[in-house]
Amino acid sequence: MSTIPTIRLNDGNAMPQLGFGVWRVSNEDARSAVAGAIEAGYRSIDTASIYGNEEGVGEAIRSTPVAREDLFITTKVWNDRQGYDSTLRAFDESLARLRLEHVDLYLIHWPMVGSEAYRDTWRALIKLQQDGRAKSIGVSNFMVPHLQRVIDETGVTPAVNQIELHPRLQQKELSAFHKANGIMTECWGPLGQGTILSEETFAIIGRKYNKTSAQVILRWHLDNGFVVIPKSVTPSRIRENIDVFDFRLDADDRRAIEALDSASGRVGPDPAVFA
Ligand code: NAD
Repeated sequence: MSTIPTIRLNDGNAMPQLGFGVWRVSNEDARSAVAGAIEAGYRSIDTASIYGNEEGVGEAIRSTPVAREDLFITTKVWNDRQGYDSTLRAFDESLARLRLEHVDLYLIHWPMVGSEAYRDTWRALIKLQQDGRAKSIGVSNFMVPHLQRVIDETGVTPAVNQIELHPRLQQKELSAFHKANGIMTECWGPLGQGTILSEETFAIIGRKYNKTSAQVILRWHLDNGFVVIPKSVTPSRIRENIDVFDFRLDADDRRAIEALDSASGRVGPDPAVFA
């Protein structure tokens, strides 16, 4: 079984560098998929209130022999609950569904174009961290101006920004801002939601190391120093996606993957227009 390295967040907490995403997984499937992932060696689970599977994730956590303190659980406040008081209530509801005393990371899911509610939402997250109920706090899909604004207004820098990032959408400017400001880049859609796996470059590189295309892509994320949360409900792929800690890409591999970056590489919603 693979042991997953942890990275240190700007608040001093440790986070596994590779976790398990559960978007588009039903409550029913989340029970077995998350339990299977934990058995395979995953220790970090990424859910969200909008995924509708916090109960299933919570049941899986209680069903495993792995101690709660050895797991890292992330959830997120959805757009229609943003604002100070409503975020605090939404957080209570997430904890009740998960049946947990705390989460390890709580994120603002989207900044929402045309709304400034994210500013009060961020203040609510700061309160949750002060109360010890969210050990770390961060954001998702934030662009540089959103990040700069919450930092300037509160003096508290998000520990994480979870963004769409993969070889076709490398987000170099945003990840450079993260690095300069001590924000960890967490990559959602790390496999381009499956759409980039047929790209020949990954198969060619994979043959050098006897690894699959998915494994090559995940290794690229890890070599960049990012946190990555691939999703699968197929047991063999769940195991495959964690079997990436026994090789590293070389400079030629990295150059070939860097060349895949594309202005039209986005597969999910664009935070510049998503409300
Ligand atoms: P992903 O890039 O992880 O791709 C998942 C898909 O790739 C699977 O459904 C499957 O079809 C395929 N796949 C996975 N492993 C494979 C393998 N080894 N071989 C072949 N095919 C494989 O996409 P994702 O699920 O969108 O992103 C991962 C996680 O990120 C989500 O589950 C969720 O937790 C999170 N996420 C967050 C946001 C956000 O707005 N914050 C948005 C989307 C996803």
